[in-house]
Amino acid sequence: MSESRREVLAGVRRLVVKVGSAVVADEGGLSREVIEGLAAEVSRFQRQGYEIVLVSSGAIACGRRKLEIPSRSFTLAEKQALAAAGQSSLIQAYEEAFSRYETHVAQILLTREDLEDRRRYLNARNTLRVLLRWRVVPIVNENDTVAVEEIQFGDNDLLAALVVGLVEADLLICLSEVDALYERDPREDPSARPIPLVREITPEIEAMAGRRPGRFGRGGMISKLRAAKMVNSLGVPMILASGRTPLVLERIFSGEEVGTVFLPGKRRLSARKFWIAHGTKPEGRLVLDEGAVRALREGGKSLLPAGVRAVEGEFERGACVECVDEAGHPVALGLTNYSSGELRCILGARSCEIEEKLGFRGREEVIHRDDLVLL
Ligand code: GLU
Repeated sequence: MSESRREVLAGVRRLVVKVGSAVVADEGGLSREVIEGLAAEVSRFQRQGYEIVLVSSGAIACGRRKLEIPSRSFTLAEKQALAAAGQSSLIQAYEEAFSRYETHVAQILLTREDLEDRRRYLNARNTLRVLLRWRVVPIVNENDTVAVEEIQFGDNDLLAALVVGLVEADLLICLSEVDALYERDPREDPSARPIPLVREITPEIEAMAGRRPGRFGRGGMISKLRAAKMVNSLGVPMILASGRTPLVLERIFSGEEVGTVFLPGKRRLSARKFWIAHGTKPEGRLVLDEGAVRALREGGKSLLPAGVRAVEGEFERGACVECVDEAGHPVALGLTNYSSGELRCILGARSCEIEEKLGFRGREEVIHRDDLVLL
């Protein structure tokens, strides 16, 4: 086994396995073979002490097949209806397949909003933790039925990466219809070679990903790379491999050089900072002066009112806000201790003036460094 594979697999206990639509469903509907293979492998690994969360796409593809609607472009409401019809068949197929191994499964449907709100995020986390403790395999999908554009994850690669942060997993395995990252899109150039190891997702690596999405899902290689980048920032590796390879998990864990491994770098975000960076949506903007930008970037400091020049948008205390420099370039994301109204009163103020301006003794920092992620 190569050194980097050994490193990636050593100490893995909790993992998220994401399966794409084109893997679980084909033209003939749900692929029983794939679902049965997954159930067998996940059950076996679970019995060996691994904790596994499955993120499975396929509801829409499955619904289309079930309702016998030929492929075409669908409206959002139609896709939601297909997902509603397909999700029940999808979960039923998993139920049946896992029950053969006496493994229990649970269905978790999430929207972006569920993870944006810290309270709901923590609720989802607690539920998942209990399921894992009870040795139940959670099967997660986007709650497509209610997820309109603004609250959509967009694709399950992003959802899977967020679930890695949510359950603090040690590894993400992304099972896709493509078996690795290739130098070029192999659908366009069959002579392109696979890349077994990526140490850093550079612009050159990004250029290797074709722009075309997969056959059934919404993802495509670009979104696999984005998921890899996200989990890598948490210090978590990702392995991209083919979901149609029999015994793929076995092969990965025995150290076979299947797929592409994306290794994390040295910088590691905490789960909380990861949530700030990827789970929340900024509700407003703070324009910082040069001194404040330097203090955040180079000094690892908290943001004080003295460094804030302008406040854009309306938000409450605790909201996620984007910090930009005076030219509008993004600097950081963070959770603010003050509402937009309060901030407008204390713009540029020194810490000792906060109480006088607000009429109460507020926090010294607008954003504490523990609640701040540099971009
Ligand atoms: N949630 C969608 C489904 O189950 C799939 C999203 C994706 O393709 O990534 O059909």
